[in-house]
Amino acid sequence: MNDSVDVDVSRETFEDPVKRPKRAHYPTDETPPEFVEPEVDVSRETALPRVLPQPVSPRIIVVANQKGGVGKTTSTVNLAAALALGGLKVLVIDVDPQGNASTALGVDHEQGTEGTYEILLEGASIADVAAPSPEPGHLWVVPATIDLAAAELELVSAMGRERRLDKAVQRYIARNEVDYIFFDCPPSLGLLTLNALVAATEILVPIQCEYYALEGVSQLLRTINMVTGELNNSLRLGTVLLTMYDKRNTLSKDVAAEVRKHFPEQTLPVEIPRSVRVSEAPGYRSTVLSYDSKSAGAVAYREAAAEIARRNAGSK
Ligand code: ATP
Ligand code: MG
Repeated sequence: MNDSVDVDVSRETFEDPVKRPKRAHYPTDETPPEFVEPEVDVSRETALPRVLPQPVSPRIIVVANQKGGVGKTTSTVNLAAALALGGLKVLVIDVDPQGNASTALGVDHEQGTEGTYEILLEGASIADVAAPSPEPGHLWVVPATIDLAAAELELVSAMGRERRLDKAVQRYIARNEVDYIFFDCPPSLGLLTLNALVAATEILVPIQCEYYALEGVSQLLRTINMVTGELNNSLRLGTVLLTMYDKRNTLSKDVAAEVRKHFPEQTLPVEIPRSVRVSEAPGYRSTVLSYDSKSAGAVAYREAAAEIARRNAGSK
């Protein structure tokens, strides 16, 4: 049976809270202050909980924003690592042919490595292709190779094309103990991202504190609405995470305020600061948590993970 669904865009009912691009909203003639690495606040680091609460049922989180370079991968790998460090069982599924999450989590993903492609197109099981990350704690990764780029096209004519990842995830959950599953998505809303949206129960949207931050978010919200109505009733916008925040920059503050206005419940209180340490870590096939555990970026990601864990702890 082919359970693909043709989407009727006219059925969209979501009230778009982001009516227009914020292009005209921010001054373009303002020279941003020179970048300075954020200072580390030791009291914030020591206040972090060492053990994080376990959810009653696995939380399946898709990290999505079709805008490129907003911090999807960085947020996926560092939040996943922080939750694993907090004693939870975490699985990251790399759904982006770029394979950046696989790299940052220190897992092989050269061509020929089995991973997300085999799950989507060859019916492989997650347990067969997942590999342990060298990061501390229980952190497993389903790698993405460049082959996954072809999957987008190959899936078009495949049976049940939007539900393949969902089926694999449901099978995995039924047989394995896991607290969190993350999908790192490519910067597009094609069939790869759609598979992740259908398989997930909640979305985490990273928003970069930069010009045009909210551009594209309205399109993402329409897609979420379409998926919710047609393919996955349980999907909800769970978390908005502000990334690459520079507290010395007025624009960062303006963008953060704007995002908080649109998503007051979902936006986490902590912003992820712009930090050279965060951007250096993947070059060492590492998360910032193990690369420089006391850096401002590492502490912010651990605070964000603790808040995410706290918000849904013990709820179904
Ligand atoms: P894509 O859309 O290509 O998948 P993405 O949304 O996954 O991109 P990332 O790859 O996570 O974005 O980040 C884009 C770039 O910004 C990377 O070079 C990353 O190292 C850098 N970066 C992300 N977060 C931070 C931060 N907090 N401070 C400094 N640099 C950052
Ligand atoms: Mg990415």
